[in-house]
Amino acid sequence: MSDLETLKSDLATAIRLLAAEGIMDANGHMSARVPGTNHVLINPRALGRSSLRAEEIVTIDLDGKLVAGKLEPPSEYHIHTRIYAARPEVFSVAHLHPQYATVFSIADKPLVPVFILGSILPREGVPVFDDSDLIRSRERGDGVAQALAAARAVLLRAHGAVTVGEDVESCFVASIWLEENAKKQLWATMLGTPHALAVEEAERVRKSLWSPEVRRKTWDYYVAKGRASGALS
Ligand SMILES: [Zn+2]
Repeated sequence: MSDLETLKSDLATAIRLLAAEGIMDANGHMSARVPGTNHVLINPRALGRSSLRAEEIVTIDLDGKLVAGKLEPPSEYHIHTRIYAARPEVFSVAHLHPQYATVFSIADKPLVPVFILGSILPREGVPVFDDSDLIRSRERGDGVAQALAAARAVLLRAHGAVTVGEDVESCFVASIWLEENAKKQLWATMLGTPHALAVEEAERVRKSLWSPEVRRKTWDYYVAKGRASGALS
């Protein structure tokens, strides 16, 4: 397989697995920037996320123009292209409608690291793009990129979340960990006042957990789970 084919295959796998985990719904999308180019691989707007195949992925440029493939990209492609323009170290972006993380943007409660896997999130809370309209223009894409700033995730109020990574695997793992933290914070809220990780504590934990080995192990775990459940067949 060429590098490009491998990237498409990983992206399709990540999208199917996020759908299988209930984090990506029928309207989510995920992309990967092709290293050394201004090309972005992304799932097409019209096709089902849970049955996506690598060969169905389309290529657009940073203006959203279709470069390869026949189907149109998602209408909110601006989320991806404007974050790539603003963050040169980011090589994968996911736009999700996760059940738990989204609730925090609706309740106006900061989503903070309360669980070790949440140590990748800002201690002051995941930033929120405070506007529920869809991101269908370059200006709104810039707004999301500005709200995200240097963070790994941003919530879109009453809409969903956007996560970023250095590669597809990192973006996938960050998406899973964001939702795991949100789930735990919500459950803890029902029992009492959630105890957020202290700044140094979160930093220490993040250093030991956010490693290529742990990300690979997490990826392998979900791939094996997806194969066993039929989500990847
Ligand atoms: Zn959306």
